[in-house]
Amino acid sequence: MSRKLTGPRLLIATHNAGKLEEFRALLAPYGLAPVSAAELGLPEPAETEDTFEGNARIKAHAAARAAQMPALADDSGIAIDPLGGAPGVRTADWAETPQGRDFVMAMRRAHDELLRSGAPQPWRARFVCVLCLAWPDGHDELFRGEVEGTFVWPMRGALGHGYDPIFQPEGHALTFAQMDPAEKNAMSHRARAVALLRRKLEQGA
Ligand code: IMP
Repeated sequence: MSRKLTGPRLLIATHNAGKLEEFRALLAPYGLAPVSAAELGLPEPAETEDTFEGNARIKAHAAARAAQMPALADDSGIAIDPLGGAPGVRTADWAETPQGRDFVMAMRRAHDELLRSGAPQPWRARFVCVLCLAWPDGHDELFRGEVEGTFVWPMRGALGHGYDPIFQPEGHALTFAQMDPAEKNAMSHRARAVALLRRKLEQGA
């Protein structure tokens, strides 16, 4: 059942400054002035589930319980059909190196595995973003956004971040990394999940 979010206190369960700013801008029109898990010095829980929903829930509930206020968390990644949905919830892990994240390495790994799989092109893929809004008593609500497309090779474009250079959304000739950021942000998985959350806030539900 849907529960009303009575502001102004809301915690954003992230240690990522970029995500925090994105959420602050999104929530400002609703009288919500969020604080972040990093600002409150809350620990980052391990993401041990095998679904985006499961990991978004872990992050949102841990923060809501620790701070005793409603908390919003997100989990996102790319699911490549011929790889059985991999890297999926392990999208960030595929880029991990001792020196930090290397997304070119991660995209090459995905390409190598696609070639090894023998799957014919086009290689269908989608970006997924799940938001979880959780309360300290254990209630939560989920909002899922997806954008369908194909894994293309070679990588194209230098804009954006992460796996953007290999993802070409359906009905477009450019990859996310070749698109104007405003165009990408208007159609992205994150934008779609956020639109569902905004609808909830606008309905006051
Ligand atoms: P997390 O949601 O912070 O656990 O990590 C999500 C992973 O998916 C990161 O490695 C991101 O680089 C990747 N990812 C999520 N959204 C996008 C996107 O819009 N473009 C490219 N990569 C993304």
